[in-house]
Amino acid sequence: IPALDLRALRKTYPNGVEALKGIDLKVEAGDLFALLGPNGAGKSTLIGILASLVNSSGGEARVFDVSVQRERSRAMALLGVVPQEINLNQFEKLFDICVNEAGFYGVPRSVAKQRAEKYLNELRLWDKAQQPARNLSGGMKRRLMIARAMMNEPRVLILDEPTAGVDIEIRRSMWQFVRQINREGVTVILTTHYLEEAENLCRNVAIIDHGQIIEHTTVKALLTQI
Ligand code: ADP
Ligand code: ADP
Repeated sequence: IPALDLRALRKTYPNGVEALKGIDLKVEAGDLFALLGPNGAGKSTLIGILASLVNSSGGEARVFDVSVQRERSRAMALLGVVPQEINLNQFEKLFDICVNEAGFYGVPRSVAKQRAEKYLNELRLWDKAQQPARNLSGGMKRRLMIARAMMNEPRVLILDEPTAGVDIEIRRSMWQFVRQINREGVTVILTTHYLEEAENLCRNVAIIDHGQIIEHTTVKALLTQI
């Protein structure tokens, strides 16, 4: 069963913009996959659909054979999604943000606390655990959002432009974390408009442009074409 299976997925916004024009795409379980494309290609729309933040206009998205459209809560339990926009309660402490997120998924509080410590540690935020989110730099906020997305121990982690605008050192530490959880068995799908990010991190890649998949190949094969 593929980790992600998109079938004729469409999105037309109320203003008439066709952001996704019938996307067919499979991502295999265990993959570290890049969705590469320029600004406006439809990447955030696709991720919004997976995160149940955007309603699709047609077609279907399945996560390990669970329909995002028809079995929303089961699909959400399998997914961790890190959107591009920072959406943190700035006054809440990092530790509480993570523990409360696990609470939404019915994770027992003692387990939630252990997980919060584990992921805040792995994302090098443990020393800030008792500080409010507003004290963090932009790169730290991104890492906090990744930690939060891990709190339900998802089988698929989806990152929308995870390293856009973060400096090279933080970018490398985020790549390291992504590789590590992928080795532990989590399928990772990230969007990027940096070829370099796909090259450093990913095995397989699809290129999206104007709401359509125009290429689906290995990163190696893509690099030999350029
Ligand atoms: P990006 O290209 O980096 O995904 P955008 O600047 O396109 O970011 O979008 C930022 C936010 O504005 C997103 O939440 C997106 O859904 C929304 N948005 C983008 N384009 C439009 C538009 N034409 N009309 C209304 N909202 C839009
Ligand atoms: P990307 O993430 O690849 O930059 P988006 O999914 O943000 O692309 O945008 C795809 C297209 O949909 C763009 O033309 C964008 O302006 C448009 N769009 C995005 N969000 C909205 C929205 N909320 N309302 C109307 N148009 C939107």
